[in-house]
Amino acid sequence: MDLTIRKLPKYMKVEPCVIDAVSWINRKYNLNIEEMDFDLIIGGGSCGHFYANCWTNPDHPRAYQWLKGRTKPAIRNGVRDTLYLYKKKTAGLTVPDGGLKIGWKQALTSDLIHELTHAVQFKQGRKYSEVETTRNQIEHLKQTNEFWYNKLIPA
Ligand SMILES: [Zn+2]
Repeated sequence: MDLTIRKLPKYMKVEPCVIDAVSWINRKYNLNIEEMDFDLIIGGGSCGHFYANCWTNPDHPRAYQWLKGRTKPAIRNGVRDTLYLYKKKTAGLTVPDGGLKIGWKQALTSDLIHELTHAVQFKQGRKYSEVETTRNQIEHLKQTNEFWYNKLIPA
């Protein structure tokens, strides 16, 4: 894993969020995901996208454009202060409309858990699932922040 941090305000120290998310994923899947060959880019534009084998796929124009010229899978993750979750019945819970303003650290860690779960799916040759990514975000929130976990609503 190669970490690149794009321009962010000085007070935003994102490394602890990366360490939390990587350790959580490693414990959950019994992996050393940081040994996998991919780029993790934090800051700059849009939020949470794991771009992997779609880099030659013009059907996904934004990923295609961004990945052109890249040689390995990549995660791009912006920083925002609101948690958004997919609304998946089988994941059980979701955020209320408009998301939850949980603060950038917790939101970033959660987004990273989401994207790193896609990296695990890719590494293990499994189909991408937004249920698994969402379940992991919910499980992580339950373990680390009961206050915000209790604000989730049925999906
Ligand atoms: Zn996803």
